[in-house]
Amino acid sequence: MTDKKYLDDSYLKELNSVITEVNENGIILESTVFYPRGGGQPGDSGFILKNGKMFKISDTTKDGDAVIHHQESPDPELSAGDTIKCQIDWDKRYAHMRYHTAIHLIDAVVNLNPGYRGLITGSQIYEDRSRVDFSMEDLSADLAISILDRANEEIEKGRNVEVRYFSRDEALSIPNLARTKPGRELISSLETVRVVEITGLDMQADGGTHVKNLSEVGKLKFAKMENKGKNNKRVYFTLE
Ligand SMILES: [Zn+2]
Repeated sequence: MTDKKYLDDSYLKELNSVITEVNENGIILESTVFYPRGGGQPGDSGFILKNGKMFKISDTTKDGDAVIHHQESPDPELSAGDTIKCQIDWDKRYAHMRYHTAIHLIDAVVNLNPGYRGLITGSQIYEDRSRVDFSMEDLSADLAISILDRANEEIEKGRNVEVRYFSRDEALSIPNLARTKPGRELISSLETVRVVEITGLDMQADGGTHVKNLSEVGKLKFAKMENKGKNNKRVYFTLE
């Protein structure tokens, strides 16, 4: 099991650690700051440093409780037992954090306004844009823009974003902590549930990395909408 330092401190850029395993899939560390692909957030890239030499990590994924650091071509110089430093590509990660928090904010706006009669069913984060999938029959580009406007109004209030932990029973008693069936099933299977809270606005069970304050998100700007069928509309936005 990898000690996932990014869960409690999204702002950690580097960490001293030890290689516990190198296999055909990649490198496993005792502890890491690398976020593995999941929940719509891409895996981190960056470097493993050993004796002053830098080894590029191109992507990060999860395998059970382990975080796998991938190299484009495996390097025989790295092996189990090595003392190393791991360092993420911070600019890219920070962009992912801003977009991830922005997506929670959009979800909150939709969830808190029953008039929208819709649900967010998925999302994908990129370094320079994000996609949000809406199950909302009457969603138009104009309505999407007004949802983003409401999100921008909340950013103006400068709310904090915090990570909290709840027991499964506590988590199940909080309404709307997970808004989709797979999310609710996941909570039921966990002993401890990590929750990302936008103070006074929103709580979602989540494993991603987020900014500390909404002011870091910037301003959401509508990019385009794709109609993927009656109950699937994809909205793309950027951050200014
Ligand atoms: Zn999330």
